[in-house]
Amino acid sequence: MDYYGSQMSHLIEQLSSLPGIGGKSAQRLAFHIIHMPKERVEQLAQAITEARENVRYCRECCTLTDQEVCPICSNPARDKKTIMVVENTRDLAAYEKTGKYEGVYHVLHGAISPMLGIGPGDIRLRELMQRLQGEVNEVIIATNSSLEGETTAMYISKLIKPTGIKVSRIASGVPVGGDLEYIDEVTLLRALEGRVEL
Ligand code: ZN
Repeated sequence: MDYYGSQMSHLIEQLSSLPGIGGKSAQRLAFHIIHMPKERVEQLAQAITEARENVRYCRECCTLTDQEVCPICSNPARDKKTIMVVENTRDLAAYEKTGKYEGVYHVLHGAISPMLGIGPGDIRLRELMQRLQGEVNEVIIATNSSLEGETTAMYISKLIKPTGIKVSRIASGVPVGGDLEYIDEVTLLRALEGRVEL
């Protein structure tokens, strides 16, 4: 039975299709939105539409940005010869928050998962290999320590090894199955400093 009227139900349905938002949260958010001032709702809707319209992958590192080349890649102070490979832009943000990493990144947008049918061709690996044709000293693999993250790390290191470029893996101070973005900065730094060559 439709308790709320079709437009309210439609809003709840749309919200509950988002990841991590169950039926109850969707209802709560829908009621919140309905009680917000109209201008605020317009701002929210506009932010969503504009971000979707303008955000794209950086030409160099594939992170999400609204410029052709992201601020990190276009910063001349960053060491372009050190590339840290991460699974997604949230992981990049986690390392950026430490303020201690001076290299650049490469964002894969996923990890290899035979179970989910995600293969090497489904993540941004080809772009990484292209970048390695330039001058690169070290590739630091900072994928998550989940099964998928480890599989991806192994796959990448095998790909890079023949090029002679140094490949390292962040240390396993990071809990198994842990998502990088939830781990505190000290642990992240320790994992980076304790990285081991593969
Ligand atoms: Zn970039």
